[in-house]
Amino acid sequence: MTETYRQVTSLIDKLEDQHSLTLDEYAFLIRNRTKESMDYIAPKARRIREEIYGTSVYVRGLIEFTNICRNDCLYCGIRRSNHQCERYRLTADQIMECCSMGYELGFRTFVLQGGEDRFWNDDVMCGLIAGIKEQYPDCAVTLSLGERSRESYQRLFDAGADRYLLRHETADKSHYEKLHPQEMSFEHRMKCLRDLKEIGYQVGCGFMVGSPYQTPETLAEDLKFLEEFSPDMCGIGPFIPHKDTPFASQPAGTLEETLWLLSIIRLILPYVLLPATTALGTIHPRGREMGILAGANVVMPNLSPVSVRKKYELYDNKICTGDEAAECRNCLSRRMQSVGYELATNRGDVRR
Ligand code: SAH
Repeated sequence: MTETYRQVTSLIDKLEDQHSLTLDEYAFLIRNRTKESMDYIAPKARRIREEIYGTSVYVRGLIEFTNICRNDCLYCGIRRSNHQCERYRLTADQIMECCSMGYELGFRTFVLQGGEDRFWNDDVMCGLIAGIKEQYPDCAVTLSLGERSRESYQRLFDAGADRYLLRHETADKSHYEKLHPQEMSFEHRMKCLRDLKEIGYQVGCGFMVGSPYQTPETLAEDLKFLEEFSPDMCGIGPFIPHKDTPFASQPAGTLEETLWLLSIIRLILPYVLLPATTALGTIHPRGREMGILAGANVVMPNLSPVSVRKKYELYDNKICTGDEAAECRNCLSRRMQSVGYELATNRGDVRR
């Protein structure tokens, strides 16, 4: 046993105990991941997750309802400068149809995710949310629509939205500026997250693993931010380059680093809703199963109509773009069973 491994395991023990480390300690953990240290942390992450959530995996039906976006994030395949991207916008009827199919499959959370599409202003969005909540009062509605004003977030909340996902992308301002165009600001993204929380949403933040210019130090800041912000949900997945973006030739994030961070996050925030993301399933055929075994407890099968699936391409080679919702559900259900877990059919609220 090397001295470094001994230091890593003692930091993991400390994290398990106190749910907090210093920035330097986080950076040390990130720099010194090994196969052995992953085998050391994963059973702890699983145990904590099972104490709170048992072996059930929460399911969110993901509806990618528009890929029209006014933003130009350098990593994203649906950025406005990508003229290769074929744009679409689902109608309210199509979205209701997705919900109906999802409901029949046992989903009790619908996630409406999209680009920042001006068509979906507050009036239109509120109508949609109210319509879904009226038809499915036993379901949660999660929004993932990017940055809006506090007033707008308030109106959507008042219309019935329960949760909001807005990845912070990175907690380091200068790193943020390398991933985004000048007109976007780190301060505004952080303000949005605070507003969402104050309004009363269950809030999710998160980041890509292995995004360009990320370092152990910026990741340490992400982990410190999670500690302090204490989100209800945290979405992390590997960065995967998209061929029509400025980051086309950047390397993808790795499976191992993503799993390592999932386990670390479970130790920091025992109750957190932590998805094994589609991006994780894209870089490895069993990535999502491994994510669950590293401490994740949520999956987000795609409910979008098959006709638009390929068009919501945030990164290259995204999986599940040809399957009907029912196939996605069955496939995920088998995958979860293969590692000793089962899909839940409830709203899957956070258990703080
Ligand atoms: N417009 C919404 C939804 C964004 S898409 C918003 O701003 O929140 C959801 C997430 O996909 C993003 O937050 C980002 O972290 C992730 N993503 C985008 N491009 C990606 C890529 N190339 N590789 C991996 N993840 C990516």
